[in-house]
Amino acid sequence: MINSHLGREGDRKKAMELGAKDFIIRGIVPPKEVVQRVLQVVGAGEYQLYICKDKGEVKKFANDLGLKEDLTCPECQGDLFLKIVQKKNGQLTANVFCSSCGKIY
Ligand SMILES: [Zn+2]
Repeated sequence: MINSHLGREGDRKKAMELGAKDFIIRGIVPPKEVVQRVLQVVGAGEYQLYICKDKGEVKKFANDLGLKEDLTCPECQGDLFLKIVQKKNGQLTANVFCSSCGKIY
C-alpha cells in the first residue's frame, strides 16, 4: 500500500505494477477513506491451496471445469492450485491457477 504526495496516473500505475495493493494520494484522500482502504487491504485473506488429487471429488471438479484430471497445466504441466480470497464481509471467491506459469483457469 503506497501513501504518496505524487498524484499522477503514471505514479499510481507504476506502484500497482510493482505489487502495491492500493495507492493513496496524501492530502487528497480523506483520512476516513484512508482507514477504510487500509482495512480493505489488511482485512482480506488470500490463500493458495494445493489440490490433493486422490481425495474427495477432484475428478468431478476437474471434469466440470474442463481441466485435465491430473490437475496439471495444459500449457506448462505445472501443478494447478486453488486461490481463495476472503473478503472483509467473509465472502469467499476461488480461482484455479497454475503455480508455474500463473495462468488462471
Ligand atoms: Zn502453467
